[in-house]
Amino acid sequence: MAKRILVTGAGGFIGHHLVSALEQAGHNVRGVDLKRPEFAETAAEEFELFDLRDPAACRASVEGIDEVYHLAADMGGIGYITTNHARIAYNNTLIDLNMLNAAAEASVGRFLYTSSACVYPAYRQTDANVEPLREEHAYPADPDQAYGWEKLYTEQLCAHYLADLGLETRVVRLHNVYGPLGTYDGGREKAPAAICRKVALAKDGDEIEIWGDGEQTRSFMYVDDCVEGLQRVMRSNFAQPINLGTSRLITINELVDLVAAIAGKRLCKRHNLSGPQGVRGRNSDNTRLRAVLGWEPGISLEAGLTETYRWIHAELAVGAGTRVRV
Ligand code: NAD
Repeated sequence: MAKRILVTGAGGFIGHHLVSALEQAGHNVRGVDLKRPEFAETAAEEFELFDLRDPAACRASVEGIDEVYHLAADMGGIGYITTNHARIAYNNTLIDLNMLNAAAEASVGRFLYTSSACVYPAYRQTDANVEPLREEHAYPADPDQAYGWEKLYTEQLCAHYLADLGLETRVVRLHNVYGPLGTYDGGREKAPAAICRKVALAKDGDEIEIWGDGEQTRSFMYVDDCVEGLQRVMRSNFAQPINLGTSRLITINELVDLVAAIAGKRLCKRHNLSGPQGVRGRNSDNTRLRAVLGWEPGISLEAGLTETYRWIHAELAVGAGTRVRV
């Protein structure tokens, strides 16, 4: 049945893809963000430019809405979230608290919150050959950054709003999402997009800079899998936090080699050991995801990176960032 759905952060990377999928599924979507999507027109029937730190903007956003996918956040790659703690904590605390409260007051049917793998404690992520993170590993808490602490606190708020006010919350811990139509320059880009950009701009035989020794590990999820997973969690009856990611662990050096192979270039790596690299290793344990959804992300890194590289390469070819973005 068609629903009235609000997507906050609809001008951002995942929000933009989610809006397209929800509209395609026949829903009526209202997108809200500080900005419109940068690289393609939104598919949302309605798009409002609101600052969700403002409670009145949150109330206007949820008016007449059945379900909320709450993605809006001040965020970026490791370079951004390791240097803007106070700003991120301030902005995201206001956005999340005001959105939850507005949704509860308006009695919306469901509220899905995009949390992050950044909630997991630093002490479980000190080894590149990391044990995959299970949801219960979040406690005793010691998230790596202010970004992670704020996400963990909002997870608790979601539980309180469910228990005390009956707001049907869903909490998804996303692990490294990548794909086309995401930021690839300017300082907020994440590792896969930054690597695709560096490889696209390099000539065969060139050297490219990698932050850290490149032996730090992560798992990566293609955005189509992410969007599918978000909708499945929303439809489920599961209100506890749940991982959404892949469990294929890869080093950043291997990620660079993969993108270079897709580009057909031989490149040397120059390791900048003073560059930020975040935790040493991070992987998703998908036991709960499989049990709850009977599904997990299945798009291979090779297939997803090929699409992502092609898109970033084409973007750069259009004029190295000089074309007028929509
Ligand atoms: P993004 O930065 O592309 O999108 C977030 C959007 O929120 C942006 O368009 C931004 O303008 C908007 N926003 C920020 N402040 C706002 C405000 N005050 N009012 C209204 N809108 C505001 O990020 P994304 O990658 O699409 O991530 C979406 C969500 O998923 C975020 O909550 C993020 O923390 C979470 N997440 C993402 C990843 C990932 O790998 N991309 C991993 C873990 C968690």
